[in-house]
Amino acid sequence: MCTNHGVTYMGQGKVEVLEINYPKLALGDRKCEHGVILKVVSTNICGSDQHMVRGRTTAPAGMVLGHEITGMVIECGQDVEFIKKGDLVSVPFNIACGRCQNCKQGLTAICLNVNPDRPGAAYGYVDMGGWIGGQSEYVMVPYADFNLLKFPDRDRAMEKIKDLTMLSDILPTGFHGAVTAGVTVGSIVYIAGAGPVGLACAASCHLLGAAVVIIGDFNEARLSHARTFGCETINLGSDIPLEEQIAMIVGIPEVDCFVDCVGFEAKGGHGAQGEEKPAIVLNQAMAVTKAGGQIGIPGLYVTEDPGTSDKAAKHGNLKIRFGLGWAKSHSFHTGQCPVMKYHRQLMNAILYDKIDIAKAVNIEVISLQDAPRGYAEFDKGAAKKFVIDPHGLIR
Ligand code: NAD
Ligand code: ZN
Ligand code: ZN
Repeated sequence: MCTNHGVTYMGQGKVEVLEINYPKLALGDRKCEHGVILKVVSTNICGSDQHMVRGRTTAPAGMVLGHEITGMVIECGQDVEFIKKGDLVSVPFNIACGRCQNCKQGLTAICLNVNPDRPGAAYGYVDMGGWIGGQSEYVMVPYADFNLLKFPDRDRAMEKIKDLTMLSDILPTGFHGAVTAGVTVGSIVYIAGAGPVGLACAASCHLLGAAVVIIGDFNEARLSHARTFGCETINLGSDIPLEEQIAMIVGIPEVDCFVDCVGFEAKGGHGAQGEEKPAIVLNQAMAVTKAGGQIGIPGLYVTEDPGTSDKAAKHGNLKIRFGLGWAKSHSFHTGQCPVMKYHRQLMNAILYDKIDIAKAVNIEVISLQDAPRGYAEFDKGAAKKFVIDPHGLIR
């Protein structure tokens, strides 16, 4: 019998690598003969995991984490027809059945059949259906024929695995943020947040032909990394208001497109230690986006935030000046990224050298045992994206 180890959430601020069950083709008493077992080749730590680890969600202790998974198929359920043992595959972080009305419309982030509590599911995530996370040696992926993206050539894919590992979440997510903000050839874009999602969004904006990509954060190390691939940057710790800093770059205090890659743990005020202001980015979006512009919001907002001191925000109620957005005819696009909508085209962009995503997000490959260090450094704002390599296949 194979053993398995996984990164487990142990309560606020604490993750441990523990022995966990070897996966079954089932979730409790729900049979998953449509699923496969993967030997995990790479699995990334995400800012979304950090919301849970910081105690900012209702995630229960004992949950195995990890929704950014790339792996090798080692076992197929009876009902899997097209995916085969030995395939190297990228797993979209959203779990989708491929059979419901939403899946049929391509809305795979809000599948109706994979989570009894609400539309949409993911691996190793609070309120996302109880599917076991993949920051582990082995993991089960349901509805494999529908969900998985098979890399056409295994050897060639392994050469680019540090880039391809970003297809499970942050590259499609950053790209989706850009697309839903209306980014196209010649756009002037502001991206809030220079974490891995913001940087993936910036690389996507370049791919889509944006003329100016401005990225704002308090974290100077992350901003200086953004400058290495052609981004303009704004350090929000400065006393100069955002509008004026934008005008200093493009001549006018507004942008065509705005992407929120921060979410509900947004900070405001001055300096890196600025206090939390969960609505600040949404209000800035309405202030600096041109009339008629679009606002992409991949940054995560929650329905319950036990860790905030703001009474209204505890239940996801934010103070936004919605009238301003209305007056400017803004469009807003929220929610999980439907990864499947983009992963094939972005895979080809990687395989044919149109995007250097591993460089843009500055990946560091670590062992499974080293995951707690990865979490701790990422939480402190390291200008890195940590990629866990549980079987030593990448290093
Ligand atoms: P991260 O925490 O590493 O990055 C967030 C960055 O925002 C940090 O560098 C922080 O300093 C900065 N920041 C804080 N307040 C700011 C402000 N007012 N203006 C500008 N920057 C500010 O996280 P990440 O991994 O880059 O993820 C970003 C967000 O995207 C998270 O909320 C994550 O949950 C979400 N996410 C959503 C999806 C989706 O499908 N929609 C997928 C992946 C991640
Ligand atoms: Zn993620
Ligand atoms: Zn579905």
